[in-house]
Amino acid sequence: MPHRARLTVDLSALDRNYRTLAALAGGAETAPVVKADGYGLGARQVALSLWAAGARSFFVARLDEGEGLRRALGSARPARIFVLDGLVPGTADRARRSGLIPMLADPVQVEAARAAGGDFPVGLHVDTGMNRQGLTPEYLATLAGDRRLEPVLLMSHLGSAAEPEAPRNRIQLDRFRRARSLFPDLPASLAASAGLFLGPEWRFDMVRPGVSLFGGGPFERPDPRIEAVATLDAPILYVRTVAPGEWLGYGSGLRVEEPTRIAVVAAGYADGLLRRGGGRASAWFAGARRPVRIVNMDLLAIEIGESPAKPGDRVELMGPNLPLDDLAAATDTVAHECLVRLSGRARRRYVRS
Ligand SMILES: *Cc1c(COP(=O)(O)O)cnc(C)c1O
Repeated sequence: MPHRARLTVDLSALDRNYRTLAALAGGAETAPVVKADGYGLGARQVALSLWAAGARSFFVARLDEGEGLRRALGSARPARIFVLDGLVPGTADRARRSGLIPMLADPVQVEAARAAGGDFPVGLHVDTGMNRQGLTPEYLATLAGDRRLEPVLLMSHLGSAAEPEAPRNRIQLDRFRRARSLFPDLPASLAASAGLFLGPEWRFDMVRPGVSLFGGGPFERPDPRIEAVATLDAPILYVRTVAPGEWLGYGSGLRVEEPTRIAVVAAGYADGLLRRGGGRASAWFAGARRPVRIVNMDLLAIEIGESPAKPGDRVELMGPNLPLDDLAAATDTVAHECLVRLSGRARRRYVRS
């Protein structure tokens, strides 16, 4: 067993999450979002598994992610691949060559798509209130009936879907409905993971879940309907007792007040854990949650009390016993960030459960 952190990706759990979300989506198509190398879990493996489970449309962020995904799926799996960055001027030929569908998000991109000419399918991304990317509703209105464009999807993105009571959700829904009335024949998509859980009126013709496929609860807390997909574990290297009055790790901030048994584990922020997890996050060892005291680059220390422990024993740092959303809450971030950081030194392996 190599003495390093290991990231286990359970593709069966991924497929089950996909089926759970697809069932919830009802008649709407479930189009997985596999940007950022499949949320750090390997876009190729994840997409092949999801294709086999029934997914036929995918979203990525960058053009090169789309090109890579097309190569990974190959000509035997003619998925529709939507690119959220849209059409960066000068890249139409690359998008066309890989059969990608850019989600036009700015008037400059609309011009680039028109210049690319016919038989070039595009999506229209309308900004309904995130103010980050997307065409304004006013500009979108000028495109209705434009024969120089070949739109295949109308899309928008919710800014507050993880907070079901946030007033912005309704505002965005109303704006999206108005935008949609201009393109009554165009399939429409508004919801990502959280939006999909808000209710049927949010689902339209297609939903775009990312994080909930990969084990994140829709509302930034664990959800019993969603299974853990990624497990990070690492072996203990040393077991020792720190005497009262001694310091732990770097700096003079962490002084031990009573004899403290610790296990030093072969994982750290170079393996994708967040440094600020020290003093806040938990690890799972010998059937219980243990406080993580420090996270350094290569090593972290957990308190193990009286539990028997020896070098080589493995400690779970994220997984079925330590939900992603709990880790995210303890480290002041979202499940998405905890996942994408795992693309560091940890060795990945794929299993089916
Ligand atoms: C990332 C992203 C998604 C997926 O979001 P999750 O919260 O991971 O489900 C969907 N749509 C757009 C536009 C995105 O940028």
